[in-house]
Amino acid sequence: MKILIVGGGGREHALAWKSAQSPRVRHVYVAPGNAGTALEPNVSNVDIAADDVEALLDFARREAIDLTIVGPEGPLVQGIVDRFRAAALSCFGPSRAAAQLEGSKSYAKAFLARHHIPTARYASFTAETFDPGYVKAQRLPLVVKADGLAAGKGVLICETHEAAIAAATGMLRGNFGAAGRTVVVEEFLEGEEVSFIVVAGGEQVVPLATSQDHKRRDDGDLGPNTGGMGAYSPAPLVTQRLHERIMREVIEPALAGLCSDGTPYLGFLYAGLMIAPDGTPNVLEFNCRFGDPETQPILMRLQSDLIDLCEAAIESRLDRVEVRWDPRAALGVVMAAGGYPEAYRKGDSIQGLEQAAAMPGKIFHAGSRLVDGEVVTAGGRVLCAAALGDTILDARTSAYRLVHAIHWNLVHYRRDIGHRALARSIRDTTLT
Ligand code: AMP
Repeated sequence: MKILIVGGGGREHALAWKSAQSPRVRHVYVAPGNAGTALEPNVSNVDIAADDVEALLDFARREAIDLTIVGPEGPLVQGIVDRFRAAALSCFGPSRAAAQLEGSKSYAKAFLARHHIPTARYASFTAETFDPGYVKAQRLPLVVKADGLAAGKGVLICETHEAAIAAATGMLRGNFGAAGRTVVVEEFLEGEEVSFIVVAGGEQVVPLATSQDHKRRDDGDLGPNTGGMGAYSPAPLVTQRLHERIMREVIEPALAGLCSDGTPYLGFLYAGLMIAPDGTPNVLEFNCRFGDPETQPILMRLQSDLIDLCEAAIESRLDRVEVRWDPRAALGVVMAAGGYPEAYRKGDSIQGLEQAAAMPGKIFHAGSRLVDGEVVTAGGRVLCAAALGDTILDARTSAYRLVHAIHWNLVHYRRDIGHRALARSIRDTTLT
């Protein structure tokens, strides 16, 4: 088989690496990929941007690609899966209509309400309907969100009513471009966040191993929100009981709701959940794709064939697949360019990759590029150093060994990835 992976981040490197391990796969193409995918055996990069749907379609036709797996949300929300399907090409991901679950937060909130799935109370507004009186009547803090895709930056947590009104009016006036033409104002939820990711095909579903990520840039969960600074799997917070609750109260009604709304879901579905102190799994957001950096530790633990899993979803056979997981834990530490998520340098030479390659674990690339045979930084999140271990602590020790082997000018990473899981496993003594 020939596989095409769309995207160029750490998630796509992990998807390409795992796809290439399938005995059925002859070659994996990644568009546009990064230095990591360029150097991976049986994998090569194609110089097409992830959102250039027509060029991707031409390439897939020309190369007779057997299966395309779409990494990022942009092309999914644009409708890449519909375009491929119309051309009779197999493409793993949700249709444009189903991807609205991520593409529009007001759509997602109305969907959650309609299907009685737990989430924060909210109201949505346009410039014409905005009501500062509503905002003033709400308890603080308040969360103000731009409706559309804003690369994780469209969510502001406001401690005063004035700040919430200013945030909403700023978005409605165009601070976030078209993404902010509608805003969602919602109550602030207390609790602990987990990522719950499944492979779905209509109402059939296979939950992936549990995981948790770290959104804030700095140690102690401080500093600005980012795309994610590290992740681990399993998430000890998600006990068997909570797992069942999430499936019953969130995943199953969401997939049934998508079917009954006429937009059945195919692909990775990611529920960002805030687990309330009483155990209620409140939905913060849905993403219509695999998480980054959760993909990296989750795929390190996946022992079964990823391509078989995607094909089973496409062919409505998910109820008959058995997915095997490595019982060990996996943990990944994101290494970022200094300054990220604000302005950062590009083009710094990355040292130590060869030493790291000889050590246990795996370096997944994200914002990296090959220039005359040298690997240089080319994005905010540059690498994810990931490793397996018998416990989260062991996985973390190995992952940080990799991190310490690598260096570039002004590299930044958190030193405490996994701290919540470690605190919990020390409290509970066993991992679930
Ligand atoms: P979102 O893109 O909607 O997941 O929001 C990004 C981040 O903002 C989440 O991962 C949470 O950390 C935080 N957040 C969003 N909504 C809420 C909420 N209602 N209560 C508390 N924190 C939230």
